[in-house]
Amino acid sequence: MQNNDKRHRFILEKANVRGVLVRLNETWREVLSRAEYPLNVQQVLGHAMVAVPLMASTIKFSGKLTLQARGTGPVNLLVVQGNADGGQRGLARWKSEPPLTPISEIFGDATLTIQIESGKEGEVYQGVVQAEGEFLQDTLASYFEDSEQLPTKMLLVCSEGRAAGMMLQQLPLEDADTDERDDDWNRVNLLAETIGQEEMLEKNSVELLRHVFAEDDVRVFDPEPLHFECGCSRARTAALIEGVGYEEAITILKDQGEIEITCEFCNSKNVFDSIDVEAIFRGDLNLGDENVVH
Ligand SMILES: [Zn+2]
Repeated sequence: MQNNDKRHRFILEKANVRGVLVRLNETWREVLSRAEYPLNVQQVLGHAMVAVPLMASTIKFSGKLTLQARGTGPVNLLVVQGNADGGQRGLARWKSEPPLTPISEIFGDATLTIQIESGKEGEVYQGVVQAEGEFLQDTLASYFEDSEQLPTKMLLVCSEGRAAGMMLQQLPLEDADTDERDDDWNRVNLLAETIGQEEMLEKNSVELLRHVFAEDDVRVFDPEPLHFECGCSRARTAALIEGVGYEEAITILKDQGEIEITCEFCNSKNVFDSIDVEAIFRGDLNLGDENVVH
């Protein structure tokens, strides 16, 4: 089946605005197939699944970008991760069905963390924003305005099988007429707001952009493919067991006979018996061909 999951970057030449359009179909359905999410949890998770590749498009990195919300509300954890190759994964944990909005009543007293691992050894950048605003798009747009000092607009939509979104940013321009720039920015914002949910989810990306920004000399770049990718492996799971320590691992073994760890992102299961556990702590666990499972 053709993979329609793509990210299109574009430039509105006349308005001096850069934009990104993200479409997720298969990737989103993969994430949904891992848990029975209530409808409003689906909504905020779908929005986050689109927000991550939108945000990642503005940053040069070769590692991972993680959006995480942790709080006291009905949705107590949300984690979405994207890597530089277009691989995306995400999950949410909930105690009860949240309202559709506002963000503070979905996550409660919570912070949203945006973490970028640059891929170079040890380089981690972390930004934190209070979980406020009506929808996730509002929280993230204001985060970007503060951190990058660029006027930013984000639109996120999702249905049960599709998720999509758009981000617009006004580029800095020296010696420009401020009033004219403000007018242009307000105009493209209004145009973006005319995009209906169906259009955002269904219409051909290039056609959509050319249609909405018909007067703005829109330049659309080649699409970048996006896909579901977990990146967990038996080796990483073994490292988790090593992390809890020998004594604790032996206690679990005595209790349960084996240690079974299920990846919450992709539901793949790793089982370690007492021989494996001994091998982990000796440092010679045989991983066979299972070194990296995507
Ligand atoms: Zn996994």
